[in-house]
Amino acid sequence: MEIEFDQVIIAVGQTVEPGLASYLEKEFGRRDLIEVDEGTMRVKGRPGLYAGGDIVRGAGTVVQAVADGRRAARAIDAQIKAR
Ligand SMILES: Cc1cc2nc3c(=O)[nH]c(=O)nc-3n(C[C@H](O)[C@H](O)[C@H](O)COP(=O)(O)OP(=O)(O)OC[C@H]3O[C@@H](n4cnc5c(N)ncnc54)[C@H](O)[C@@H]3O)c2cc1C
Repeated sequence: MEIEFDQVIIAVGQTVEPGLASYLEKEFGRRDLIEVDEGTMRVKGRPGLYAGGDIVRGAGTVVQAVADGRRAARAIDAQIKAR
């Protein structure tokens, strides 16, 4: 379908909020995304901490966020069982 417009304003919240950006910079040294190992979703340089979804990949999809959660859950389970 094609529709003609004079102007289009994109108004979706797909960037990091300023308050969160400050926190990320203090905790992780970056204002945008958290770096993780993609197989386990372990936060790089922070043992025992896991992250997934938009905070690691930027604007993504629900399916990707849920898949990240499953990967993290598997890795956490393996970490607990290894103790
Ligand atoms: C307008 C729009 C439309 C979209 N449409 C689709 C679509 O059709 N299909 C699709 O697959 N994806 C869509 N997406 C993308 C999808 O919503 C995201 O990829 C997905 O929600 C990411 O999940 P998440 O758990 O990483 O983050 P989020 O779902 O954003 O969850 C993060 C949660 O953390 C909470 N939070 C933030 N700061 C704090 C804090 N300091 N303390 C405690 N809690 C906090 C937030 O309130 C939020 O509940 C859309 C996104 C937008 C913005």
